[in-house]
Amino acid sequence: MSTPFLTLNNIGRRFADGTAALADISADIEEGSFVSLVGPSGCGKSTLLRLVAGLDEPSAGSITWTNGQPDDVGFVFQDATLMPWATVADNVWLPHRLRGMSREDAQPLIDEALERVGLGGRQSAYPRELSGGMRMRVSIARALSLKPRVLLMDEPFAALDEITREKLNDDLNDLWAEHKWTVIYVTHSVYEAAYLSTRILVMPARPGAFVADVPVEAPVDRGDGWRANPRFAQISADVTAQLRAAAGVASQSRRVS
Ligand code: ADP
Ligand code: MG
Repeated sequence: MSTPFLTLNNIGRRFADGTAALADISADIEEGSFVSLVGPSGCGKSTLLRLVAGLDEPSAGSITWTNGQPDDVGFVFQDATLMPWATVADNVWLPHRLRGMSREDAQPLIDEALERVGLGGRQSAYPRELSGGMRMRVSIARALSLKPRVLLMDEPFAALDEITREKLNDDLNDLWAEHKWTVIYVTHSVYEAAYLSTRILVMPARPGAFVADVPVEAPVDRGDGWRANPRFAQISADVTAQLRAAAGVASQSRRVS
């Protein structure tokens, strides 16, 4: 087995009010893998991403980065979290501005990132002029402009309609296939997880732990061919069954008469 990029060692997180969000989370994460976390609302998925990002500290256990904690972790949230008064380009500039980079110096990074998400021509638009899917692309471009080796995504497409979501899933798969970032992706959608991931970790209700670890052996470039593949359907069904088992819901066999 190759050396893990990131190791979660028996992580627990209990908040000051006594809420235990996570209990005994352990996993080795390989470099270049696309790992999805699926589980019911409130099971600690966002808490775990914040710990990996270094925005919060575990109350038990530890996180080990084999080659040191990277300073280039990109974080994409469910809301596009754009500044409404700033243009698309200025929104992408924000993290660079916070690091003291002038707009002029950041411009090539802004150009490249917006080009990659198909918004090269919309640099001077304001968020209110864009659709929900486009706003999410700006948010992704902002994370990509940091050229992250690690991308953490917290239900980024949950608020979008199904067609837009599929399109962004395709684009995300293309970008990942090209750049091989290590991605940790939180989603409610079993199908989205089965489409995008190399591995799916299933969490039960709070306190979250990993109750199933499902490998997704599929071509790097996915597309509709993978969506139509019987193995895609089988993996989706397996993960759904694991989620139901974790929630204590018996799987139903319905007779159709
Ligand atoms: P998920 O992202 O899976 O929906 P979260 O990680 O946001 O879940 O939250 C896990 C649990 O921890 C929830 O019950 C939530 O209410 C609780 N929680 C999250 N943050 C805090 C906090 N700062 N203080 C107390 N409880 C919290
Ligand atoms: Mg969450």
